[in-house]
Amino acid sequence: MKHVLILGGGYAGMMAALRLTAKLRAHKDDIHITLINASDTFTERIRLHQAAVGKPLPQYSIPKMLKKRNIQFIQGWVTAIEPNQHQVRVQIEKELQTFHYDILIYALGSHTDLDSIPGIRDYAYTLDEKSAQKLKQHLPRIAAKSGTLVICGGGLTGIETATELAEHFPTLHTRLVTQGQLGGGLSPKGRKYIHKVFSKLNIQRDEQVSVRAINHNAILLDNGHTISYDILIWAGSFNAPELAKQAGITVNNKNQILIDQYLRSISHPDIFVVGDAGQFVSSPEATIRMACATAMPMGARGGENVAALIQSKPLTAFHFNYLLQCISLGRRVGLIQFVHGDDTPKERILTGKIGAWVKELICRFTIWSLKIERYFPGAYKWAGAKRGNQIIHYEHEKSYRNV
Ligand SMILES: Cc1cc2nc3c(=O)[nH]c(=O)nc-3n(C[C@H](O)[C@H](O)[C@H](O)COP(=O)(O)OP(=O)(O)OC[C@H]3O[C@@H](n4cnc5c(N)ncnc54)[C@H](O)[C@@H]3O)c2cc1C
Repeated sequence: MKHVLILGGGYAGMMAALRLTAKLRAHKDDIHITLINASDTFTERIRLHQAAVGKPLPQYSIPKMLKKRNIQFIQGWVTAIEPNQHQVRVQIEKELQTFHYDILIYALGSHTDLDSIPGIRDYAYTLDEKSAQKLKQHLPRIAAKSGTLVICGGGLTGIETATELAEHFPTLHTRLVTQGQLGGGLSPKGRKYIHKVFSKLNIQRDEQVSVRAINHNAILLDNGHTISYDILIWAGSFNAPELAKQAGITVNNKNQILIDQYLRSISHPDIFVVGDAGQFVSSPEATIRMACATAMPMGARGGENVAALIQSKPLTAFHFNYLLQCISLGRRVGLIQFVHGDDTPKERILTGKIGAWVKELICRFTIWSLKIERYFPGAYKWAGAKRGNQIIHYEHEKSYRNV
């Protein structure tokens, strides 16, 4: 009996689990699959800015999402990985338990980097799940006294958060501070539209300014100025958990496990990595973005490759093309930025209500994809899966066939 252990039940881990069982139906008596996740409900991370305004998000039970697919679900917190012993330590309520694996699928995702600037950890809220829940409690109080909300980060998460909160709490003085340009990865037309919506929602913008430190009521900028706040949200970059690094697995400076084209750790080939927690080593200058858009295809390909490995079949390299960047700008309008396969923007955009509608459809599509994959195994498809991609340029084609 072979044991496949999947760590993490986010977009990537869930898709990997479902695709793996789809491909191993004929072997179900010889394979034991376990998925471990911190919570027994699926977190729709792409909607956490909506949760911050108090909008109740739909609750999806992970055991239900995996029902009848021969996957054991364990709710617990992974505390350590011991790759040489092929085992993982998991805190389950008050007990520390050990799980053995033959193949590990590592899908522990990412969280906001709290250590890039002094003070984030102590004073800022983030868009991580627990912090978003706390924001929900504090924001109405700050809005009632027309306080100042400062959001640091002009990427897509910062933009979505600023517009969501400014629209929901019009009495807040909302201010977004960013090191680069607001929506730097968008086309000029896309950026122009973002500025238009920000102006409409009275969101003040401070572009091209770097934050040096944060204290209890102000952010200190590199140019010597300070910006006071009543409530601060840090929407900076993400890091993967430190568990892999602590286990001696080769990682980059964001704690992402370095993987080959088959999604296998380059230092520990019996560990497959899907979603935000992995980064391709083949082309370090062309990294793929930590995104739901990449996590689900990686999950599907990772699940297929683990099944292939178990059946001594050749593994398939991961290929992917970006299509769109979908940005909610509050509940009423949105921006759809069409992009080339390598994520660089085209001129074409969709805006307004249609933009909001397409964005909502894409959010729903992520959940539908997981549901459909359970009923119709193998149904989930993604752009560029076969054609070859324009992002990752593999230097070598090497296949590992033995566990
Ligand atoms: C506000 C916001 C909006 C976003 N919008 C978009 C968007 O529009 N489009 C897009 O493509 N991306 C978006 N993203 C990014 C996207 O959410 C992530 O890239 C995506 O969730 C990554 O999926 P994943 O499965 O790798 O990790 P996750 O979704 O983070 O899942 C990881 C899972 O592992 C669990 N876990 C972690 N550590 C442990 C542990 N030690 N023990 C047990 N369980 C553990 C977590 O609880 C979680 O369930 C957004 C992110 C945020 C915060």
